[in-house]
Amino acid sequence: MGFQDTARRIDGYADACTDFLVRICSIPALGPENQGDGEMAKYEVVRREVMALAPDRVEEIHAPDERVPDRVRPNLMAIFNGKDSSRTLWILAHIDVVPPGELRLWSHDPFEPVVRDGFISGRGVEDNGQAVAASIFAARAIKETATFGLNVGLALVSDEETGSLYGLDYVLRQRPDLFGADDLIIVPDAGNKDGDVIEIAEKHLLQVKFTVRGIQGHASRPDKHRNSLRAAANLIVELDDALHRKFSTQNQFFSPPESTFEPTRKEANVPNVNTIPGEDIFFFDSRILPDVDISQVIAEMEQAARAAKDRFGVEVAVEEFLRSESPNPTPADAPVVVALAAAVQEIYGVQTRPQGIGGQTVATFFRKRGLYAAVWEKILQTAHAPNERVTIENLVGNTKVFAKMML
Ligand SMILES: [Zn+2]
Repeated sequence: MGFQDTARRIDGYADACTDFLVRICSIPALGPENQGDGEMAKYEVVRREVMALAPDRVEEIHAPDERVPDRVRPNLMAIFNGKDSSRTLWILAHIDVVPPGELRLWSHDPFEPVVRDGFISGRGVEDNGQAVAASIFAARAIKETATFGLNVGLALVSDEETGSLYGLDYVLRQRPDLFGADDLIIVPDAGNKDGDVIEIAEKHLLQVKFTVRGIQGHASRPDKHRNSLRAAANLIVELDDALHRKFSTQNQFFSPPESTFEPTRKEANVPNVNTIPGEDIFFFDSRILPDVDISQVIAEMEQAARAAKDRFGVEVAVEEFLRSESPNPTPADAPVVVALAAAVQEIYGVQTRPQGIGGQTVATFFRKRGLYAAVWEKILQTAHAPNERVTIENLVGNTKVFAKMML
């Protein structure tokens, strides 16, 4: 008895859960930054599914946004009362998606999901549709077969893919009271094929813009001009070398274990071949271990810029483009991590390990408020790719993990 009943019930949902995922992923939910109309059409379908479960409390915290036809970006918080009402298990999933990208790379229309051989393929099925469906069907299973052991909150939000200003960030600013220090918060928005990693920490994020200014002129007279590209190219190599040498410490808790410093964007300079360029702009994206001081990284960058200036006679401007200091991690023994590890062990038979990552997720917004959030899901890791897909097996399995935690 006990969880066996609930697990069997979830096995019986496989078709209904698949249908629901197909239905919601047939509705594009793109933010205005991605030339979309927002999330409302998809939200209505999701909301109906949640309301059918008769939650004890519902809060719709819609963020005003004049750029979309409905003028709001919808966010739903649905709470089911549990035996222990002192704390809430939150599962937060997002309903917006990223654009399909190159259509010719897809084997079908990205917004007409295909179900075949145990897979569901379509834009948004993994990121983050699988979690939307799994969290709702987990609550349904408990509702139909058992009693919630603690309060359970389904948080279904907009705007994760373009910054969360109208999604979780808005919800937390409007209603910080919804989330308590004792709550267990799961963000199933990243994971791996084995489902054995629970993400609890992140690196600092630092993006820096370098503008190199020389003197533009005819390519035949380098003696009279100053080539910004030569200086920029040398500076990139110097930065790459100096940053990796100076900040080489490792922390095996993170994957990868070291700070990373990557030259990324490079803006176009002159359109023609016979002109010495006078301005070059490039960027570095750095993911820095939490115990490294960001200001020391910037100081190292400025020193390399000064050296390039002296060597090539150019000006170099170093500007912070984006800086996000990592919040305190969720402790590896926080209740949400312990409960998640136990549930994953029981359902999938795998031992999880807590890990830090370089990319930041919406869990950051919780951690910055001192709330313990853990990021976990078992997925194929096809988010943002063409032919994004999930397995029905993971869809059902993850539903069981969430249901197990709701008891
Ligand atoms: Zn996502």
